[in-house]
Amino acid sequence: MENKEKKWIDDVVVQDEIDRYKIDGKSFIDDDLIWEQINKAKNPDKKYIKEIIQKSLRIERLDPEEMAALIHCDDPELYQEMRDAALVIKEKVYGRRCVTFAPLYVSNYCVNNCEYCGYRTDNTSIDRKRLNKEELTREIEALVDEGHKRLIMVYGEHPASDYEYIKDTLETAYSVKRKPSGEIRRVNVNMAPLSIERLKPLQEVGIGTYQIFMETYHHETYAKVHPVGTLKGNYDWRLYGLHRCMDAGIDDVAPGILLGLYDWRFDAMAMLYHTIDLENRYDGVGPHTLSFPRLEPALDTPFAEQSPYMVSDEEFEKVVTVLRLAVPYCGMILTAREPQEVREKVLKLGITQLDFGSNIGVGSYAKGNFDPTRQQFMLNDTRSLDEGIRWLASEGKLPSFCTAGYRCGRTGSYFMNIAKKGKVHQMCMPNAILTFTEYLLDYASEETKEVGIKLVKKEIELMEPGAKKAIKGLLDKIYEGERDIYV
Ligand code: SAM
Ligand code: SF4
Repeated sequence: MENKEKKWIDDVVVQDEIDRYKIDGKSFIDDDLIWEQINKAKNPDKKYIKEIIQKSLRIERLDPEEMAALIHCDDPELYQEMRDAALVIKEKVYGRRCVTFAPLYVSNYCVNNCEYCGYRTDNTSIDRKRLNKEELTREIEALVDEGHKRLIMVYGEHPASDYEYIKDTLETAYSVKRKPSGEIRRVNVNMAPLSIERLKPLQEVGIGTYQIFMETYHHETYAKVHPVGTLKGNYDWRLYGLHRCMDAGIDDVAPGILLGLYDWRFDAMAMLYHTIDLENRYDGVGPHTLSFPRLEPALDTPFAEQSPYMVSDEEFEKVVTVLRLAVPYCGMILTAREPQEVREKVLKLGITQLDFGSNIGVGSYAKGNFDPTRQQFMLNDTRSLDEGIRWLASEGKLPSFCTAGYRCGRTGSYFMNIAKKGKVHQMCMPNAILTFTEYLLDYASEETKEVGIKLVKKEIELMEPGAKKAIKGLLDKIYEGERDIYV
């Protein structure tokens, strides 16, 4: 590693921005306690499980002991009750809407050496690339021309993609305009944790949700897969990354676990502890969404296929169900890492956001190819946005491209309050209908348009008379050519 890189690394971590969050020098993750709670909850009583399900249905967050009991619930009938409740909860809070987005990989340079990741610094098979402004613009244009309105931009951790570069790329993403009305209206990020001082400029350019995946909360495993001495090897710096976002004024934050690194039961419980700590400190505002991707093969990355903790499809469904019940009001993201068949099953367990038309090679949207040498790992669901939308609509899920909430300041505590009262869908359903119709008219194939328009009509029929009249008036405007209308 060059001296310049070493110097840059030394400058990233601000020790005080770890220490200030600890209580008596301890973090909120106590490995022994989590295992004790999991082990104590074996063979749960049927009545207790039913009570827990009722609590989730009241949109109340579960306690770790309750989540541990659900993890151990193997009774087929009760497990089915849990799965049914997962969907009821999702529809109670979010309605039948499903938000769609696309990932955009901006730079694959990385100083870290995460054992499971294709981008790790030692992997010489990767073609390293950082998009310049023109290249990024072409990527955004390609995405906008497919109909995307929301992105998640992803970066390796490296001086070439420091916070100033990230700020510039966010500004570029928002600045691209295509005719008739195509533009990206919301940019979330998945990137390394930063200090509060470096987060603030990102807040100023309209950053959306900030995702930082802890990958695994288990200290020993974390140290094994993130070599000591690397930036990401600093467990506590990463653990409090989202706390620092909140303190920098970025109030939509999103943790995640990478399933397959360690025992899923531990990591799912630990993500609940993360949620609780954020909520306790920030006036009830915890994660906006939860992520739980499974480890996928990556170029010249043997670990990604040999981990002893790989999660089976059945276990994956259980993780999703348990998380849905444990934190009933959070969004839940299911990515295109999963194959179509798995996505079809898991959609019914309370998923709120999915990506389609995804390509995770740096620079690959404009080129229109899948280039394994530029990718972090391999994707399994490569359906286009049009195909994905058609599938969602045929399942009775209303695809939403809505970004109004963010632009009207409905983030952080505002959002959490309505989510916890189960009222997100009341506000968001009209916007979902408007943005979906906009997509159907501007970008959809004839086949998708037909399925979509039928669904929109059905949804409008289900609305209260006042709301029905209002939405019909707004839809007329969309048909007349007006765009970006929201309530
Ligand atoms: N480099 C930043 C970091 O690590 O925080 C940004 C995130 S990284 C580009 C995006 C996420 O991809 C990681 O947090 C990790 O959970 C996930 N990931 C890495 N390797 C993976 C693999 N082989 N299969 C599936 N997901 C993987
Ligand atoms: Fe770098 Fe992130 Fe990959 Fe780790 S997971 S090697 S930090 S890109």
